[in-house]
Amino acid sequence: MHKAAFARGERGKNHNMEHTGRVILCKYGEVALKGANRPQFESAMMRELRRRAEGVGRYEIWSAQSTVYIEPQDEGSEARIEEMYGEASHVFGFSGICIASSAAKDIDKIREAAAEYVPGQISGCRTFKVEAKRSDKRFPHRSPEIAASVGEAILDVMPELTVDLHDPDVTVMVEVRERCAYIHAGQERGAGGLPSGTNGRALLLLSGGIDSPVAGYMMMKRGVTVDAVHFESMPYTSEQAREKVLALASILTDWCGEMRVHVISVTHIQEALRDSCDNDYFTILLRRFMMALADRTARHTGAQALVTGESLGQVASQTMHALAATDCKTTLPVFRPCIGMDKEEIVVLSRKIGAFETSILPYEDCCTVFTPQHPKTRPEIEKVEAQEALVDFDGLCEEAWQGRRLFYVRRGLEPKEYEPR
Ligand code: ATP
Ligand code: MG
Repeated sequence: MHKAAFARGERGKNHNMEHTGRVILCKYGEVALKGANRPQFESAMMRELRRRAEGVGRYEIWSAQSTVYIEPQDEGSEARIEEMYGEASHVFGFSGICIASSAAKDIDKIREAAAEYVPGQISGCRTFKVEAKRSDKRFPHRSPEIAASVGEAILDVMPELTVDLHDPDVTVMVEVRERCAYIHAGQERGAGGLPSGTNGRALLLLSGGIDSPVAGYMMMKRGVTVDAVHFESMPYTSEQAREKVLALASILTDWCGEMRVHVISVTHIQEALRDSCDNDYFTILLRRFMMALADRTARHTGAQALVTGESLGQVASQTMHALAATDCKTTLPVFRPCIGMDKEEIVVLSRKIGAFETSILPYEDCCTVFTPQHPKTRPEIEKVEAQEALVDFDGLCEEAWQGRRLFYVRRGLEPKEYEPR
């Protein structure tokens, strides 16, 4: 809110009052299409926004007509509205988000607010147009009239601009809604997807690479609560490799708030495979162990599905044959959100979620320890099983499971180790 407005005591104490000054508008994505269970999705979104607002300031958060309004309640919170905007842009369920200036529903007040607010939003633009939407039909001016009048007010303070109705650099929106009118210079995409916590729990197989953090993010975006399991192979893999994985989990908590990361050592499994099995089957056998251990972890933690970062054909262990030979070690659904994506597309998402720079740090993953020179791309299941029978599958799994460790990763905090239950 503008300082002057606070001084005049105009701040909205609750949403029944008009609120003048800056406000964040978050527009529903596909939640708007939900039927009877829509309130459940809405309350998950509100809960998440309120949780995130706690650290930023005092905001009145309320919803109407498929939009959530976030209104600062004091000057300190107004000053941090961009920070709150950053928080809201990480909340799943919204398709569009913007900071708007709100004004009383009076054409002169709207013009005044536009003349004050818009210049700071569109500096550098040369052409513009104004579009008006009037969902409150009682407002006495029609949309074209509002647009023309507000356009004029903007031109008065920015005479260097020209109006271009067909291909403007920027479109200024005026929305006359229930309580107020809102003016903004275009909205950005929201986080999309479905609200956190509305779509079950899954266990992500999290390596230190590029793909699995992206896969985890994609499931979180669909409202899934995601825990992770990481397999390590000390001393063949390093302490830094584990720290890197915890750092990646920490990056993912920007989207989900917190995450449990189970760490399971596969050192003895890898040594047994190296000592007893045909080297060409090494990777596929290791991956079968991973699937079995992930299945056990998922059941133990209440996850209903597994998630991996596999992309079809990316490497020998990700051909259809190889995937089939690993999938049979679990009866849970295995989600692979990157399966149809090219590496380039995955990298775009990795950068977007801020994971890329960490993902490319050069620490060994257990998958790259003792790797075969000629991995089987079309493993025959009978041969795989015959190789597997050369080691004590259940005994090795049991030992690895008993040695598991558990880390809690919370946003903004150092990961903390807990005794696994
Ligand atoms: P990523 O970039 O995610 O590491 P990748 O292209 O390196 O993937 P692989 O190493 O074949 O591919 O792994 C495929 C998938 O198997 C990963 O996306 C991840 O889900 C799982 N995975 C691989 N290594 C591990 C590990 N050490 N711990 C947990 N999961 C793993
Ligand atoms: Mg990997």
